Amino acid sequence: MTATHSTRMLILGSGPAGLSAAIYGARAGMAPIVVQGLQPGGQLTITTDVENYPGFADVIQGPWLMEQMTKQAEHVGAQMMWDTIVEVDLTQRPFRLVGDGGTVYYGDVLVIATGAQAKWLGVPGEQELGGKGVSACATCDGFFYRGKKVTVIGGGNTAVEEALYLTNHSDDVTLIHRRDSLRAEKILQERLFAHPNIKVLWNQKVDSFVDGGGTAGLVAIDLIDTVTGEKSRHETEGGFVAIGHAPATALFQGHLKLDEDGYIAVETGSTRTSVPGVFACGDVMDKVYRQAVTAAGTGCMAALDAERFLAEADFEKKRETVAA
Ligand SMILES: Cc1cc2nc3c(=O)[nH]c(=O)nc-3n(C[C@H](O)[C@H](O)[C@H](O)COP(=O)(O)OP(=O)(O)OC[C@H]3O[C@@H](n4cnc5c(N)ncnc54)[C@H](O)[C@@H]3O)c2cc1C
Repeated sequence: MTATHSTRMLILGSGPAGLSAAIYGARAGMAPIVVQGLQPGGQLTITTDVENYPGFADVIQGPWLMEQMTKQAEHVGAQMMWDTIVEVDLTQRPFRLVGDGGTVYYGDVLVIATGAQAKWLGVPGEQELGGKGVSACATCDGFFYRGKKVTVIGGGNTAVEEALYLTNHSDDVTLIHRRDSLRAEKILQERLFAHPNIKVLWNQKVDSFVDGGGTAGLVAIDLIDTVTGEKSRHETEGGFVAIGHAPATALFQGHLKLDEDGYIAVETGSTRTSVPGVFACGDVMDKVYRQAVTAAGTGCMAALDAERFLAEADFEKKRETVAA
């Protein structure tokens, strides 16, 4: 028999956004169910040091922080499900969602917090050196490279912004791009080219990230010239891959309004999506900030928006019953 779960508040995703929505939702009496997906705890579970999440004087570990958030959500009454949603029907309330084993979930409101994954190059050394010199987030990790030689890979707005951001920590920043011109906005390019501490290596693609062995971590990036095919080695201690993010929204295509980059479109200043009763929070609706604390903040907003939506819907229902 197919298992079925019904709740006032169904949450997809167990990163900082989903868990913050769960904490607020549970405390507002909405008995949330959190479907955790393939990465329980979200993206912070694949990093080590987190130094910018407020409330901790010492450096904390990403997996530990997410374990604490999960425990906190459970402590106030949220229910965690080991499942991944593969099908959605948002045409009527309660919304109907189906997990990959066939379990059916009904939610009076739905909070989507499925995140956005950084795109990687898929070259040797990249995965192995993650957190040991290779990163996809300068805002998150730039601080750890103070005074070091760092390199950004990419040619769009994110890559240029990351290179400019890294000049706060390093006076030796290199941008590597596989073409001979950047896609980034002109104004960003002007700031980049005018910066005395940034140099650009054109027509270079990454062949591999080089591990120095022992505790050294990343020591260089092996490059191939995209025009001549010539190989070279670029010494660096930090490699920031900035080739874009992919929001986890394939599931919602045709069901919800997405923006031109595939992120869930929300009303400005709220988490309301194009379907009343469906709310989105965290990286899946935010392509600008993409931080744990902003994800948690919008998770809180989603729970408050959801609670107000349900209160209004309940009030309307009562009024109709009295009038009938
Ligand atoms: C290596 C690394 C280091 C970082 N370091 C920092 C840092 O130091 N400080 C900082 O503030 N930020 C950091 N970030 C960014 C931060 O992790 C993200 O901004 C934050 O995790 C976004 O939270 P989120 O809840 O929106 O999404 P995520 O954390 O991405 O969580 C998404 C959740 O959705 C679930 N999901 C996806 N699809 C489905 C589905 N179909 N059904 C059910 N569930 C689904 C996943 O399993 C996951 O639980 C880092 C990111 C990375 C990759």
